[in-house]
Amino acid sequence: MESTDADLGADPGQSLLSTAGLEADAGAPPASGETDSVVHIPVPPKHLSPSSASVFRQCPQRWKFRYIDRLPDPPGEAALAGTFAHRVLEDLLSLEPQDRTMDRARALATEVWSDMQDDRDFRALELDPDGVRNFKWAAWRAIEGLWDLEDPKTVELIDTETEVSVEIGGVPFIGYIDRVESTADGLVISDYKSGRAPGRRFSSDRLEQVLLYAAAFAELQGTLPARARLLYLGQRIDEAEVTAENIGEVTERLAATWEELLRRSETGEFPADPGPLCGWCAFVRHCPEGLAEVERRHQAGSLRPDAPALAEAV
Ligand code: SF4
Repeated sequence: MESTDADLGADPGQSLLSTAGLEADAGAPPASGETDSVVHIPVPPKHLSPSSASVFRQCPQRWKFRYIDRLPDPPGEAALAGTFAHRVLEDLLSLEPQDRTMDRARALATEVWSDMQDDRDFRALELDPDGVRNFKWAAWRAIEGLWDLEDPKTVELIDTETEVSVEIGGVPFIGYIDRVESTADGLVISDYKSGRAPGRRFSSDRLEQVLLYAAAFAELQGTLPARARLLYLGQRIDEAEVTAENIGEVTERLAATWEELLRRSETGEFPADPGPLCGWCAFVRHCPEGLAEVERRHQAGSLRPDAPALAEAV
């Protein structure tokens, strides 16, 4: 989970998401509840991460709200459960191979839970006891889902939560690699995903993130990894052989996004680009185009009833 590693216990009120470094690029947005006022940061941004690039491509205005205006964008329940699972798996894989058992994962989950339940973003969810139970189950299903994909005892770990901050394709890139391991084929870069795996036709697009990590790793270490993988916990593994060609393609695309972002930073024009994801945009109340889109989709019956933005628009 893209994501700086800090001491989880340093500040009980601090967000696990921020401490896990999930966003450390173009001026990380404030954690929920920090402020409602608009705080401007210098533009152009200092770095571009895969998630920031993805938000910009999806909707430039959403990127502006998040990375320039720095409006609060608190993680939802699913994202926090994913963070919880990531943290447990990171700790699990840091153990000696023979100790990477499900029992140890349970014990680690109990330790991580003591931090999570005090986390500001988690408390902001205001879950009732049933909600807390469901949250824990969702996180645990993701954790035990690792065993559906592999036996963690067989992983020859090189590093977890590796920060890669380096220029690739002329872009100041930053990211956090969940896992680097050694295999018979060479090094493998992996990222855990706790959400639902996409349809197969979208799977190669989703691999762009780990291919960028592979490009950054190669730039830093001088070694091209053999493969880049997404581990959809409890579901499947999507992977690609890392080649000069696919690294070149994703780097070019990142550079194009960066150029566009710099251009828009100069003009200050970040147009809204409404679409299906408006239903899940934390900034919809600030966005007339997004509100209209949510309303239109709701009327057409094409918006899932659990879309959070519905509460703002209807
Ligand atoms: S609501 Fe939609 S159009 Fe508006 S900022 Fe969010 S994603 Fe963009």
